[in-house]
Amino acid sequence: MAHVHGLRCRECGREYEVAPVFTCEWCFGPLEVAYDYEAIAAATSREKIAAGPLSIWRYADLLPCERNPAVDLGAGFTPLVRADRLAAELGLGEVWIKNDTVNPTNSFKDRVTSVALSKALEFGFKVAACASTGNLANAVAAHAAHAGLRSFVFIPADLEQGKIVTTAVYGGNVVAIDGNYDAVNRLCAELAGLYPWAFVNVNVRTYYAEGSKTLAFETAEQLGWEAPDHVVVPVASGSLLTKIRKGFEELFEVGLLDREPQVRVSGAQAEGCSPVARAWLDESDTIKPVKPDTIAKSLAIGNPADGYFALDAVRQTGGGLAAVTDEEVVDAIQLLAATEGIFAETAGGVTIATLRLLAREGIVRSDERVVVYITGHGLKTLDAVAGRAGPTAVIAPTLDAFNEAFPPDTVQE
Ligand SMILES: [Zn+2]
Repeated sequence: MAHVHGLRCRECGREYEVAPVFTCEWCFGPLEVAYDYEAIAAATSREKIAAGPLSIWRYADLLPCERNPAVDLGAGFTPLVRADRLAAELGLGEVWIKNDTVNPTNSFKDRVTSVALSKALEFGFKVAACASTGNLANAVAAHAAHAGLRSFVFIPADLEQGKIVTTAVYGGNVVAIDGNYDAVNRLCAELAGLYPWAFVNVNVRTYYAEGSKTLAFETAEQLGWEAPDHVVVPVASGSLLTKIRKGFEELFEVGLLDREPQVRVSGAQAEGCSPVARAWLDESDTIKPVKPDTIAKSLAIGNPADGYFALDAVRQTGGGLAAVTDEEVVDAIQLLAATEGIFAETAGGVTIATLRLLAREGIVRSDERVVVYITGHGLKTLDAVAGRAGPTAVIAPTLDAFNEAFPPDTVQE
């Protein structure tokens, strides 16, 4: 059972009943789920969580769904991998990678989609829909298929081929729009007003966003119920960053953490789409929308809905933001793969490149326990590294040919 009071406007605090609504009628501010934390504290415990499923649904008491789990492909409880070789490379101490590439459709969007479609079923929707830069398209198409819902997935037409195939295969409708994500999103907002569909990141966004908190819950549990000192999170809409921060705070609120978390939160953007990082670097409160131009398409949101809240979270916690070039993104994908054996999509390259930059600037420090969120798999964006990663040698199938390419004295050890 969900321990939810209702919904609350993040701007003016007005309260609403649980429904598929996402903005305040009064001030147009975004709505957020308001929980009954006393009831959650009474219902949950470390032991109960440990005995739960190996998925986000082990934290059902902290999620806004009545039936747990309603739509479940096993999202979540992904590995937290100690990254000593990467840390040494960057001059850092204790670094962990939260490897969300291994989710059912290979990105963290499976978490938010599992929550959103579970809620959509409760509301009685028959059609799942979304505006997506790719990863959400995969997740919605797959979870809708699993739940027996029809789906309409809207994407920018120039999306990576891999992400189109891995969405269309699930048999729903994939609508490619001649325009960037912000144009796709505007169309979806219009459609959401006309059709009785569950648009996971429009009219069900309030619940959808809550799924991201599970990245903080898992991190703390996997660290032995402790919060890290610093997290580095990719920024697209900004929602993921703010919800990870909220997740750590909620764990303390309901008694699952002994000490109040003091997590510094840093954000990662690609230079070709860096409205939030730009505002931070310019010491401005204004997020100026941009036209995205970067290989990190999953982060290419030029007008981020939660940009201001993400900026505020970074400032309040003493973190930082950086904008990295596409070249640095590709280098970082290779660095993570070569040091830790984890192959990330371009968004992960953005995050590791940002970690490197913030370490150089002394914002991420070597005395901190750092957790880095790798949110999507490298197979989704093969083009980014295809020109750089190929065979070490192409040889005839003979020993002589091998020995010529790799002289024995150079490969003995
Ligand atoms: Zn309001």
